[in-house]
Amino acid sequence: MNEYLLKLRNEIEKMGLKLADGEIHKLNQFIELLLEVNQHTNLTAITDFEEITFKHLYDSLLIYNINEFRNATQIIDIGTGAGFPCIPLAICFPEKQFISLEATKKKINFQQEVVNLLNLKNIKCIWNRAEVLARDVSYRGQFDLVIARAVAASNVLAELTIPFIKVNSHAVFYKGKEVEKEIELSKNAIRTLGAKIKAITNYCLPDNHGERSLIVIEKVSNTSDLYPRNPGIPLKKPL
Ligand code: SAH
Repeated sequence: MNEYLLKLRNEIEKMGLKLADGEIHKLNQFIELLLEVNQHTNLTAITDFEEITFKHLYDSLLIYNINEFRNATQIIDIGTGAGFPCIPLAICFPEKQFISLEATKKKINFQQEVVNLLNLKNIKCIWNRAEVLARDVSYRGQFDLVIARAVAASNVLAELTIPFIKVNSHAVFYKGKEVEKEIELSKNAIRTLGAKIKAITNYCLPDNHGERSLIVIEKVSNTSDLYPRNPGIPLKKPL
């Protein structure tokens, strides 16, 4: 077994999560396919196996520390790119159901290839924009948890995510290390959408691969039908 994945397994075990051999094998297949397809289709800037293991996989699984994730079963991931964090999460948590939403066709095509190859039954890949899908009654207000990693600043992200969850459910944003300023700037947007900040936790990735924060947001009332606004507006004119 790949040495970095062995190390990942040990580090993940420190969080209290034991990964089965089959799960490690699937994570390995996912990275190998990502590196192969990335040679002709630009999917990720990080192309080193070790860096992908810690900066993408380990980072994706960090959310296991959060109770709101442990308690959720219907999860939607917004702007998943090459499949982070939802593909590693779908591999390691087969009992949870995931929707992966991504606006770029070639990226969602890659994810569908991974889902087929690994025979993942608990993830549905959707090619669309959050602003459009959040107005579809089958998706609006339907989820226990919405997650997003490296998609936009929190004031923009709030509008792209909070409409998807039920009242009393949660959003978790994966962020870098310094989030105080960003949080200050997003308070108005989060309130306008019917939610509030519940917790912010900081983490170190193994072997000095960097620091991360997870922002947990709780939805306290229904989101007004005004939101999300038309595609592109949340980014152009953040709340
Ligand atoms: N979450 C991934 C990808 C981050 S890049 C990771 O952590 O690696 C951000 C991705 O969000 C891009 O692939 C982009 O196409 C997608 N995206 C940006 N705005 C979006 C929107 N409004 N709806 C759906 N996807 C969006």
